[in-house]
Amino acid sequence: MDLRIKNAKAYIDGAFRMTDLYIDKGRIRHITNERLHAESVYDAEGDLVIPGLVDPHVHISLEVGSHKSADDFRTGSLAAAFGGVTTIIDFLDPVDNTCDFEKEFARRRNLAKESLVDYAFHATIKDLREDPETFVEAIRKKGIVTLKLFTTYSETDRRTKDKTIKRLLSLSKDRSFLPLAHIEADRLIRLDEAFTHEDLPTSRPARSETEEALKLARLVEETGGYLYMVHLSSGKTLERLKELHPTLLGKHFFIESCPQYFAFDEDKLKGGEGKLFTFAPPLRTNKEQELLHARFSHVDTIGTDHCPFLREEKMRAERLSAMPLGIGGVEHAFDVMYHYFGMEAIERMSVRPAKIHGLFPKKGAIREGSDADLFVYKLEKGKIDTFHGGSDHTVYEGHPRKGRLRTTISKGRFVVRDGKAKETQGEYLEREAPLWRKH
Ligand SMILES: [Zn+2]
Repeated sequence: MDLRIKNAKAYIDGAFRMTDLYIDKGRIRHITNERLHAESVYDAEGDLVIPGLVDPHVHISLEVGSHKSADDFRTGSLAAAFGGVTTIIDFLDPVDNTCDFEKEFARRRNLAKESLVDYAFHATIKDLREDPETFVEAIRKKGIVTLKLFTTYSETDRRTKDKTIKRLLSLSKDRSFLPLAHIEADRLIRLDEAFTHEDLPTSRPARSETEEALKLARLVEETGGYLYMVHLSSGKTLERLKELHPTLLGKHFFIESCPQYFAFDEDKLKGGEGKLFTFAPPLRTNKEQELLHARFSHVDTIGTDHCPFLREEKMRAERLSAMPLGIGGVEHAFDVMYHYFGMEAIERMSVRPAKIHGLFPKKGAIREGSDADLFVYKLEKGKIDTFHGGSDHTVYEGHPRKGRLRTTISKGRFVVRDGKAKETQGEYLEREAPLWRKH
Protein backbone atom coordinates (compact mmCIF):
# COMPACT_ATOMS: atom_id res chain seq x y z
CA MET A 1 0.00 0.00 0.00
CA ASP A 2 1.17 3.54 -0.70
CA LEU A 3 -0.42 5.18 2.32
CA ARG A 4 -2.04 4.23 5.60
CA ILE A 5 -4.27 6.76 7.33
CA LYS A 6 -4.44 5.64 10.92
CA ASN A 7 -6.78 6.63 13.74
CA ALA A 8 -9.40 7.90 11.30
CA LYS A 9 -12.91 8.62 12.51
CA ALA A 10 -14.20 7.99 9.01
CA TYR A 11 -17.59 8.82 7.52
CA ILE A 12 -18.66 5.56 5.89
CA ASP A 13 -22.18 4.84 4.62
CA GLY A 14 -23.79 7.57 6.66
CA ALA A 15 -22.02 7.08 10.00
CA PHE A 16 -18.65 7.68 11.66
CA ARG A 17 -16.45 4.81 12.80
CA MET A 18 -12.85 4.40 13.92
CA THR A 19 -10.75 2.62 11.35
CA ASP A 20 -7.57 2.71 9.31
CA LEU A 21 -7.73 3.46 5.60
CA TYR A 22 -5.26 1.96 3.14
CA ILE A 23 -4.65 3.74 -0.13
CA ASP A 24 -2.85 2.39 -3.16
CA LYS A 25 -2.45 3.85 -6.66
CA GLY A 26 -4.91 6.63 -5.95
CA ARG A 27 -7.71 4.47 -4.63
CA ILE A 28 -9.02 3.32 -1.29
CA ARG A 29 -8.07 -0.37 -1.14
CA HIS A 30 -8.88 -1.47 2.40
CA ILE A 31 -10.95 -0.10 5.23
CA THR A 32 -9.84 -2.15 8.19
CA ASN A 33 -8.37 -2.20 11.67
CA GLU A 34 -6.08 -5.01 10.61
CA ARG A 35 -2.44 -3.98 10.25
CA LEU A 36 -1.17 -4.00 6.64
CA HIS A 37 2.13 -2.82 5.24
CA ALA A 38 2.21 0.74 3.86
CA GLU A 39 5.04 2.89 2.48
CA SER A 40 3.95 5.89 4.52
CA VAL A 41 1.60 6.62 7.39
CA TYR A 42 -0.52 9.66 8.23
CA ASP A 43 -1.99 9.92 11.72
CA ALA A 44 -5.51 11.41 11.69
CA GLU A 45 -5.36 11.46 15.53
CA GLY A 46 -9.04 10.60 15.85
CA ASP A 47 -10.19 13.58 13.79
CA LEU A 48 -13.09 13.31 11.34
CA VAL A 49 -12.16 11.85 7.95
CA ILE A 50 -14.82 12.82 5.42
CA PRO A 51 -15.25 11.94 1.72
CA GLY A 52 -13.79 14.64 -0.54
CA LEU A 53 -16.63 17.05 -1.27
CA VAL A 54 -18.12 17.55 -4.72
CA ASP A 55 -19.04 21.18 -5.38
CA PRO A 56 -21.47 20.94 -8.30
CA HIS A 57 -21.65 24.68 -8.91
CA VAL A 58 -18.55 26.82 -9.41
CA HIS A 59 -17.65 29.56 -11.89
CA ILE A 60 -13.91 29.81 -12.41
CA SER A 61 -12.28 32.40 -14.71
CA LEU A 62 -15.63 33.89 -15.54
CA GLU A 63 -15.86 36.98 -17.69
CA VAL A 64 -19.05 39.01 -17.32
CA GLY A 65 -19.12 42.20 -19.37
CA SER A 66 -16.03 44.17 -18.37
CA HIS A 67 -15.58 42.17 -15.16
CA LYS A 68 -13.42 39.12 -14.61
CA SER A 69 -13.84 36.89 -11.57
CA ALA A 70 -10.90 36.70 -9.17
CA ASP A 71 -10.19 32.96 -9.42
CA ASP A 72 -8.50 31.05 -12.19
CA PHE A 73 -8.40 27.26 -11.99
CA ARG A 74 -5.22 27.29 -9.99
CA THR A 75 -6.36 29.70 -7.27
CA GLY A 76 -9.98 28.46 -7.32
CA SER A 77 -8.91 24.85 -6.87
CA LEU A 78 -6.56 25.87 -4.05
CA ALA A 79 -9.49 27.49 -2.23
CA ALA A 80 -11.50 24.33 -2.94
CA ALA A 81 -8.79 22.12 -1.43
CA PHE A 82 -8.78 24.26 1.73
CA GLY A 83 -12.53 23.65 1.90
CA GLY A 84 -12.30 19.85 1.62
CA VAL A 85 -13.56 19.98 -1.96
CA THR A 86 -11.76 17.50 -4.24
CA THR A 87 -14.10 17.74 -7.24
CA ILE A 88 -15.42 20.94 -8.79
CA ILE A 89 -17.99 21.13 -11.56
CA ASP A 90 -17.62 24.31 -13.56
CA PHE A 91 -19.90 25.75 -16.26
CA LEU A 92 -19.08 26.17 -19.93
CA ASP A 93 -20.20 29.52 -21.36
CA PRO A 94 -23.72 29.49 -22.88
CA VAL A 95 -23.97 28.48 -26.54
CA ASP A 96 -26.81 27.73 -28.94
CA ASN A 97 -25.26 25.11 -31.21
CA THR A 98 -22.93 22.10 -31.23
CA CYS A 99 -20.07 23.78 -33.07
CA ASP A 100 -19.80 26.58 -30.50
CA PHE A 101 -20.14 24.02 -27.71
CA GLU A 102 -17.10 22.14 -29.00
CA LYS A 103 -15.02 25.31 -29.21
CA GLU A 104 -16.06 26.33 -25.70
CA PHE A 105 -15.33 22.86 -24.33
CA ALA A 106 -11.79 22.93 -25.79
CA ARG A 107 -11.19 26.45 -24.46
CA ARG A 108 -12.27 25.64 -20.92
CA ARG A 109 -10.44 22.31 -20.81
CA ASN A 110 -7.31 24.20 -21.61
CA LEU A 111 -7.91 26.74 -18.82
CA ALA A 112 -8.68 23.94 -16.35
CA LYS A 113 -5.35 22.20 -16.84
CA GLU A 114 -4.01 24.24 -13.93
CA SER A 115 -6.51 22.79 -11.46
CA LEU A 116 -5.06 21.11 -8.37
CA VAL A 117 -8.20 19.00 -7.87
CA ASP A 118 -10.36 17.00 -10.29
CA TYR A 119 -12.94 18.81 -12.35
CA ALA A 120 -15.88 18.31 -14.68
CA PHE A 121 -18.09 20.64 -16.70
CA HIS A 122 -21.75 21.37 -17.19
CA ALA A 123 -22.77 22.44 -20.69
CA THR A 124 -24.77 25.69 -20.74
CA ILE A 125 -27.24 26.81 -23.39
CA LYS A 126 -29.08 29.90 -24.54
CA ASP A 127 -32.10 29.05 -26.67
CA LEU A 128 -30.89 26.21 -28.91
CA ARG A 129 -30.77 26.90 -32.64
CA GLU A 130 -30.63 23.21 -33.48
CA ASP A 131 -32.30 19.96 -32.55
CA PRO A 132 -31.88 19.41 -28.79
CA GLU A 133 -31.26 15.71 -29.37
CA THR A 134 -28.23 16.44 -31.58
CA PHE A 135 -26.89 18.80 -28.93
CA VAL A 136 -27.31 16.27 -26.12
CA GLU A 137 -25.47 13.64 -28.17
CA ALA A 138 -22.59 16.06 -28.69
CA ILE A 139 -22.15 16.84 -25.00
CA ARG A 140 -22.34 13.16 -24.05
CA LYS A 141 -19.46 12.42 -26.42
CA LYS A 142 -17.33 14.74 -24.28
CA GLY A 143 -18.31 13.02 -21.06
CA ILE A 144 -20.85 15.68 -20.05
CA VAL A 145 -24.21 14.55 -18.67
CA THR A 146 -25.64 17.83 -17.38
CA LEU A 147 -26.97 20.78 -19.34
CA LYS A 148 -27.82 24.10 -17.76
CA LEU A 149 -30.40 26.56 -19.03
CA PHE A 150 -31.75 29.91 -17.85
CA THR A 151 -35.40 30.91 -17.66
CA THR A 152 -34.23 34.53 -17.40
CA TYR A 153 -31.49 36.91 -18.61
CA SER A 154 -33.40 37.60 -21.84
CA GLU A 155 -31.62 41.00 -21.87
CA THR A 156 -28.32 39.23 -22.53
CA ASP A 157 -29.94 36.64 -24.81
CA ARG A 158 -29.41 33.69 -22.49
CA ARG A 159 -33.02 32.74 -21.88
CA THR A 160 -34.23 29.34 -23.09
CA LYS A 161 -37.83 29.37 -24.34
CA ASP A 162 -40.46 27.17 -22.71
CA LYS A 163 -40.88 25.15 -25.88
CA THR A 164 -37.19 24.14 -25.84
CA ILE A 165 -37.34 23.44 -22.10
CA LYS A 166 -40.27 21.11 -22.64
CA ARG A 167 -38.41 19.29 -25.38
CA LEU A 168 -35.35 18.87 -23.15
CA LEU A 169 -37.46 17.60 -20.26
CA SER A 170 -39.04 15.00 -22.56
CA LEU A 171 -35.61 13.95 -23.78
CA SER A 172 -34.35 13.58 -20.20
CA LYS A 173 -36.85 10.77 -19.62
CA ASP A 174 -34.38 8.20 -20.93
CA ARG A 175 -32.11 9.50 -18.11
CA SER A 176 -28.99 9.80 -20.20
CA PHE A 177 -28.57 13.43 -19.16
CA LEU A 178 -29.96 15.85 -16.58
CA PRO A 179 -31.18 19.39 -17.37
CA LEU A 180 -30.20 22.00 -14.77
CA ALA A 181 -32.10 25.26 -14.53
CA HIS A 182 -31.48 28.75 -13.22
CA ILE A 183 -35.07 29.51 -12.27
CA GLU A 184 -36.47 33.05 -12.04
CA ALA A 185 -39.52 34.36 -13.93
CA ASP A 186 -38.08 36.73 -16.52
CA ARG A 187 -41.21 38.91 -16.60
CA LEU A 188 -41.00 39.62 -12.83
CA ILE A 189 -37.43 40.87 -12.96
CA ARG A 190 -36.84 44.63 -13.18
CA LEU A 191 -33.51 46.30 -13.62
CA ASP A 192 -34.19 50.04 -13.34
CA GLU A 193 -31.25 52.30 -14.12
CA ALA A 194 -31.61 54.01 -10.72
CA PHE A 195 -31.39 50.76 -8.70
CA THR A 196 -28.48 50.37 -6.29
CA HIS A 197 -27.36 47.19 -4.53
CA GLU A 198 -29.97 47.80 -1.82
CA ASP A 199 -32.68 47.32 -4.45
CA LEU A 200 -31.51 43.83 -5.42
CA PRO A 201 -34.40 42.04 -3.64
CA THR A 202 -36.85 44.36 -5.43
CA SER A 203 -35.14 43.79 -8.74
CA ARG A 204 -35.24 40.01 -8.36
CA PRO A 205 -38.09 39.23 -5.93
CA ALA A 206 -38.53 35.83 -4.23
CA ARG A 207 -41.89 35.52 -6.00
CA SER A 208 -40.10 35.33 -9.36
CA GLU A 209 -38.32 32.20 -8.15
CA THR A 210 -41.34 30.57 -6.50
CA GLU A 211 -43.70 31.08 -9.44
CA GLU A 212 -41.25 29.90 -12.06
CA ALA A 213 -40.18 26.86 -10.02
CA LEU A 214 -43.80 25.77 -9.70
CA LYS A 215 -44.28 26.25 -13.42
CA LEU A 216 -41.27 24.08 -14.22
CA ALA A 217 -42.37 21.44 -11.71
CA ARG A 218 -45.64 21.22 -13.62
CA LEU A 219 -43.70 20.74 -16.86
CA VAL A 220 -41.63 17.98 -15.23
CA GLU A 221 -44.85 16.30 -14.17
CA GLU A 222 -46.40 16.65 -17.62
CA THR A 223 -43.39 15.32 -19.50
CA GLY A 224 -42.22 12.69 -16.98
CA GLY A 225 -38.71 14.16 -17.28
CA TYR A 226 -36.05 15.22 -14.77
CA LEU A 227 -34.83 18.61 -13.63
CA TYR A 228 -32.24 19.97 -11.20
CA MET A 229 -32.86 23.45 -9.86
CA VAL A 230 -29.65 25.35 -9.15
CA HIS A 231 -29.22 27.82 -6.27
CA LEU A 232 -32.66 27.79 -4.66
CA SER A 233 -32.73 30.95 -2.52
CA SER A 234 -36.18 31.13 -0.99
CA GLY A 235 -37.64 28.98 1.79
CA LYS A 236 -41.06 29.73 0.36
CA THR A 237 -40.12 28.19 -2.99
CA LEU A 238 -39.08 25.02 -1.20
CA GLU A 239 -42.23 24.91 0.88
CA ARG A 240 -44.54 25.42 -2.09
CA LEU A 241 -42.73 22.77 -4.14
CA LYS A 242 -43.11 20.33 -1.26
CA GLU A 243 -46.81 21.14 -0.85
CA LEU A 244 -47.76 20.94 -4.52
CA HIS A 245 -45.31 18.34 -5.88
CA PRO A 246 -44.31 16.09 -2.99
CA THR A 247 -43.70 13.03 -5.17
CA LEU A 248 -41.36 14.85 -7.57
CA LEU A 249 -38.83 16.06 -5.01
CA GLY A 250 -35.68 13.99 -4.76
CA LYS A 251 -36.89 11.76 -7.60
CA HIS A 252 -37.65 13.88 -10.66
CA PHE A 253 -37.05 17.39 -9.36
CA PHE A 254 -33.75 17.91 -7.55
CA ILE A 255 -32.91 20.96 -5.49
CA GLU A 256 -29.57 22.60 -4.95
CA SER A 257 -29.17 25.48 -2.51
CA CYS A 258 -26.13 27.50 -1.44
CA PRO A 259 -24.52 28.35 1.92
CA GLN A 260 -25.10 32.09 1.52
CA TYR A 261 -28.89 31.66 1.73
CA PHE A 262 -28.53 29.80 5.03
CA ALA A 263 -25.94 32.14 6.51
CA PHE A 264 -27.37 35.58 5.73
CA ASP A 265 -30.56 37.52 5.09
CA GLU A 266 -31.22 40.63 3.01
CA ASP A 267 -30.27 43.00 5.83
CA LYS A 268 -26.68 42.33 4.77
CA LEU A 269 -27.36 44.37 1.63
CA LYS A 270 -27.83 47.58 3.60
CA GLY A 271 -25.14 50.27 3.58
CA GLY A 272 -21.96 50.52 1.55
CA GLU A 273 -20.54 47.14 2.60
CA GLY A 274 -23.76 45.61 1.30
CA LYS A 275 -22.16 45.70 -2.14
CA LEU A 276 -20.05 42.73 -1.08
CA PHE A 277 -23.22 40.64 -0.69
CA THR A 278 -24.53 41.04 -4.24
CA PHE A 279 -25.33 37.92 -6.23
CA ALA A 280 -28.31 36.43 -8.09
CA PRO A 281 -30.69 35.21 -6.90
CA PRO A 282 -30.25 37.66 -4.02
CA LEU A 283 -30.48 37.25 -0.25
CA ARG A 284 -34.03 36.92 1.07
CA THR A 285 -35.89 38.07 4.20
CA ASN A 286 -35.12 36.62 7.60
CA LYS A 287 -38.45 34.75 7.48
CA GLU A 288 -37.50 33.14 4.17
CA GLN A 289 -34.11 32.21 5.61
CA GLU A 290 -35.72 30.55 8.65
CA LEU A 291 -38.07 28.59 6.41
CA LEU A 292 -35.12 27.39 4.35
CA HIS A 293 -33.41 26.11 7.51
CA ALA A 294 -36.61 24.37 8.61
CA ARG A 295 -37.03 22.64 5.23
CA PHE A 296 -33.40 21.61 4.79
CA SER A 297 -34.36 17.93 4.53
CA HIS A 298 -35.82 18.64 1.06
CA VAL A 299 -32.57 20.08 -0.27
CA ASP A 300 -30.64 17.48 -2.30
CA THR A 301 -27.28 19.15 -2.73
CA ILE A 302 -25.25 22.16 -1.69
CA GLY A 303 -23.40 24.02 -4.43
CA THR A 304 -21.66 27.31 -3.78
CA ASP A 305 -22.12 29.28 -7.02
CA HIS A 306 -18.51 30.25 -6.29
CA CYS A 307 -17.65 33.37 -8.29
CA PRO A 308 -15.59 35.87 -6.26
CA PHE A 309 -14.53 39.34 -7.35
CA LEU A 310 -11.91 41.56 -5.80
CA ARG A 311 -13.20 43.91 -3.13
CA GLU A 312 -12.41 47.01 -5.16
CA GLU A 313 -14.30 45.58 -8.12
CA LYS A 314 -17.38 44.88 -5.97
CA MET A 315 -17.27 48.34 -4.36
CA ARG A 316 -16.55 50.48 -7.44
CA ALA A 317 -19.97 50.80 -9.12
CA GLU A 318 -22.84 52.85 -7.68
CA ARG A 319 -25.58 51.40 -9.87
CA LEU A 320 -26.75 47.81 -9.58
CA SER A 321 -26.67 47.40 -13.37
CA ALA A 322 -22.89 48.01 -13.40
CA MET A 323 -22.01 45.65 -10.52
CA PRO A 324 -20.43 42.22 -10.91
CA LEU A 325 -22.75 39.76 -9.16
CA GLY A 326 -21.14 36.86 -7.33
CA ILE A 327 -19.20 35.83 -4.21
CA GLY A 328 -16.64 33.22 -3.23
CA GLY A 329 -17.82 30.19 -1.27
CA VAL A 330 -16.01 27.00 -2.18
CA GLU A 331 -13.58 27.22 0.73
CA HIS A 332 -16.06 27.96 3.51
CA ALA A 333 -19.19 26.11 2.46
CA PHE A 334 -18.41 23.09 4.60
CA ASP A 335 -17.58 25.15 7.72
CA VAL A 336 -20.89 26.98 7.34
CA MET A 337 -23.11 24.01 6.49
CA TYR A 338 -21.53 21.66 9.04
CA HIS A 339 -22.03 24.34 11.65
CA TYR A 340 -25.79 24.36 10.99
CA PHE A 341 -26.54 20.78 9.96
CA GLY A 342 -23.70 18.42 10.97
CA MET A 343 -23.88 15.02 9.28
CA GLU A 344 -26.85 16.04 7.11
CA ALA A 345 -24.53 18.54 5.45
CA ILE A 346 -21.91 15.89 4.69
CA GLU A 347 -24.44 13.79 2.80
CA ARG A 348 -25.55 16.75 0.66
CA MET A 349 -22.01 17.81 -0.18
CA SER A 350 -20.49 14.42 -1.02
CA VAL A 351 -22.56 11.37 -1.87
CA ARG A 352 -25.65 13.14 -3.23
CA PRO A 353 -23.96 15.53 -5.65
CA ALA A 354 -21.73 12.65 -6.78
CA LYS A 355 -24.78 10.49 -7.50
CA ILE A 356 -26.91 13.14 -9.15
CA HIS A 357 -24.07 14.42 -11.33
CA GLY A 358 -22.83 11.03 -12.52
CA LEU A 359 -19.65 10.68 -10.45
CA PHE A 360 -20.59 7.98 -7.93
CA PRO A 361 -19.01 5.71 -6.63
CA LYS A 362 -15.70 6.98 -8.05
CA LYS A 363 -16.33 10.17 -6.07
CA GLY A 364 -18.42 11.07 -3.04
CA ALA A 365 -17.77 8.13 -0.72
CA ILE A 366 -15.14 6.47 1.42
CA ARG A 367 -15.42 2.89 0.21
CA GLU A 368 -13.07 0.26 -1.15
CA GLY A 369 -12.47 0.87 -4.85
CA SER A 370 -13.40 4.57 -4.80
CA ASP A 371 -10.88 7.32 -5.52
CA ALA A 372 -8.91 8.18 -2.39
CA ASP A 373 -10.45 11.65 -2.07
CA LEU A 374 -10.97 12.74 1.51
CA PHE A 375 -10.27 15.42 4.07
CA VAL A 376 -9.39 15.52 7.75
CA TYR A 377 -11.49 17.89 9.83
CA LYS A 378 -10.50 18.70 13.39
CA LEU A 379 -13.42 19.51 15.66
CA GLU A 380 -12.62 22.80 17.32
CA LYS A 381 -15.06 25.67 17.74
CA GLY A 382 -14.07 29.02 16.36
CA LYS A 383 -14.70 31.61 13.68
CA ILE A 384 -13.78 31.62 10.03
CA ASP A 385 -10.53 33.57 9.92
CA THR A 386 -8.56 32.40 6.89
CA PHE A 387 -9.03 32.33 3.15
CA HIS A 388 -7.04 31.22 0.15
CA GLY A 389 -7.39 31.61 -3.59
CA GLY A 390 -7.50 34.66 -5.83
CA SER A 391 -9.87 36.92 -3.92
CA ASP A 392 -8.86 39.41 -1.23
CA HIS A 393 -11.80 38.96 1.12
CA THR A 394 -14.59 36.57 2.10
CA VAL A 395 -18.15 37.34 3.16
CA TYR A 396 -17.87 34.44 5.62
CA GLU A 397 -15.14 36.02 7.74
CA GLY A 398 -16.22 35.78 11.39
CA HIS A 399 -18.92 33.17 10.70
CA PRO A 400 -18.93 30.53 13.46
CA ARG A 401 -17.52 27.10 12.68
CA LYS A 402 -17.33 23.82 14.58
CA GLY A 403 -14.08 22.56 13.12
CA ARG A 404 -11.09 23.36 10.99
CA LEU A 405 -9.71 21.69 7.90
CA ARG A 406 -6.36 20.03 8.53
CA THR A 407 -5.59 17.95 5.48
CA THR A 408 -7.04 17.23 2.04
CA ILE A 409 -6.13 14.23 -0.09
CA SER A 410 -6.97 13.84 -3.77
CA LYS A 411 -6.47 10.37 -5.31
CA GLY A 412 -4.04 9.46 -2.55
CA ARG A 413 -1.94 12.62 -2.83
CA PHE A 414 -1.86 15.45 -0.31
CA VAL A 415 -3.27 18.71 -1.68
CA VAL A 416 -3.19 20.25 1.78
CA ARG A 417 -1.14 18.62 4.53
CA ASP A 418 -1.65 19.92 8.05
CA GLY A 419 -2.55 23.37 6.78
CA LYS A 420 0.11 23.61 4.05
CA ALA A 421 -0.65 23.47 0.32
CA LYS A 422 1.15 20.91 -1.87
CA GLU A 423 1.65 20.58 -5.61
CA THR A 424 -0.90 18.27 -7.22
CA GLN A 425 -2.50 17.95 -10.61
CA GLY A 426 -6.24 17.49 -11.06
CA GLU A 427 -7.76 15.81 -14.08
CA TYR A 428 -10.84 16.05 -16.22
CA LEU A 429 -13.63 13.67 -15.23
CA GLU A 430 -15.68 12.13 -17.99
CA ARG A 431 -19.03 11.33 -16.49
CA GLU A 432 -21.46 8.47 -16.87
CA ALA A 433 -25.21 8.91 -17.11
CA PRO A 434 -26.43 10.18 -13.74
CA LEU A 435 -26.49 7.19 -11.40
CA TRP A 436 -29.97 7.79 -10.10
CA ARG A 437 -31.14 5.97 -13.22
CA LYS A 438 -30.15 2.74 -11.52
CA HIS A 439 -32.21 3.37 -8.38
ZN1 LIG B 1 -24.07 29.99 -11.04
